[in-house]
Amino acid sequence: MSYRSLLMAGWTVLFLFLFLPLGHGAEESKSGWQPELRVGLFSGQKSVTFQASRECVLSLRSNPKKKVSVKKGETITVTVSGWDFQAKGKKFSGECLELRPPDPRDMKDLVTTLNGKPYRGGLQMRLRGGAMVVVNILPVEQYLRGVLPEEMPPSWAPDALKVQAVAARTFALKNRKRHEPEGYDLCSSTHCQLYTGMTEEDPHTDEAIAGTYGEVLFALVNGALIDAPFHTDSGGMTENSEDVWGSYSPCLRAAKEVETKTHPWSKTVTMDEFQKQFNLGKIKKIELSSLEIGKKTKDRTSSGRVKSVQVVGSKGSKTVSGTELRSLFGLKSTLFSVKLQGNQVAFSGYGWGHGLGMSQWGAKAFAERGDGYQKILAHYYQDTIIKKLY
Ligand SMILES: [Zn+2]
Repeated sequence: MSYRSLLMAGWTVLFLFLFLPLGHGAEESKSGWQPELRVGLFSGQKSVTFQASRECVLSLRSNPKKKVSVKKGETITVTVSGWDFQAKGKKFSGECLELRPPDPRDMKDLVTTLNGKPYRGGLQMRLRGGAMVVVNILPVEQYLRGVLPEEMPPSWAPDALKVQAVAARTFALKNRKRHEPEGYDLCSSTHCQLYTGMTEEDPHTDEAIAGTYGEVLFALVNGALIDAPFHTDSGGMTENSEDVWGSYSPCLRAAKEVETKTHPWSKTVTMDEFQKQFNLGKIKKIELSSLEIGKKTKDRTSSGRVKSVQVVGSKGSKTVSGTELRSLFGLKSTLFSVKLQGNQVAFSGYGWGHGLGMSQWGAKAFAERGDGYQKILAHYYQDTIIKKLY
């Protein structure tokens, strides 16, 4: 789900494609153009084996004339030896070897089976430290088909799935080049968005993607794509951006939910384990105002999440942030209360995740009561507009 680390606040980067004219109307624009993503799959490979579902060309990115053709279904093994690639008995001296269909328009219909697992689109193999980084290159809409079922159960309400589709598409395009130093845009783990190729694709999530084709969220304040963070469950109210990322965004404001006190959780930590973290001697008390969802206090944010607690021990006291406690003790959220219980420290709270942007369980509740995806997106991402990018 959405437990990605999203601790960067970026409002300044506008991508070139934002300046392209925006399409309108039906599901797929006439040109069929859509941005291509590079998704990192593996690194440290000395050899890969693949088959393509249609005729392709394997060529050097820096010198496309250096190429071999790959027949439909033909098994190809690419190996690295020294600073070169070897494939079909040929040597390719260059940094990046690509597998693409001869006509770029066929990319959306290509399936590449890599080490036995199917992926939409083609491949890039990049030399790195005497081995390969293997990258899946594919159009954004095809990428989303492998992401959505990993981020939200396909059995959920169609409008909740559409909310997730727009959020995941916006996140992917906003975060293009996030892994540029490694030679790709996004990784395939939860750090970016979990992507497993075609194995989990589902007709329900496919429908949500097709029904929102090309739609992304722009901020009204500056016309830039928003970051579109999301999380599993807010527990009753989402959070203001400055209380999670440390910077203000008009789009990411604390928003109410249909239900509160959702996803209750508890966690106990032994006193020894707790004391070890703070070097304050014997813990005497932990000061924190009582939890009330939507009530701001000196040590809680507007949603009621813990800003900080005061830990008082025999050797002194210390202010510890809610986020730090969450990461130290693996708490599901910062929407909690805490008390000393004999030889234990007992945390109890609600929700799951950072609480920023869309709550997935919250979107499900709104969709189930009949709200459409545009209305739900406007609730979680304020002062934004949905536009068709292509
Ligand atoms: Zn990543």
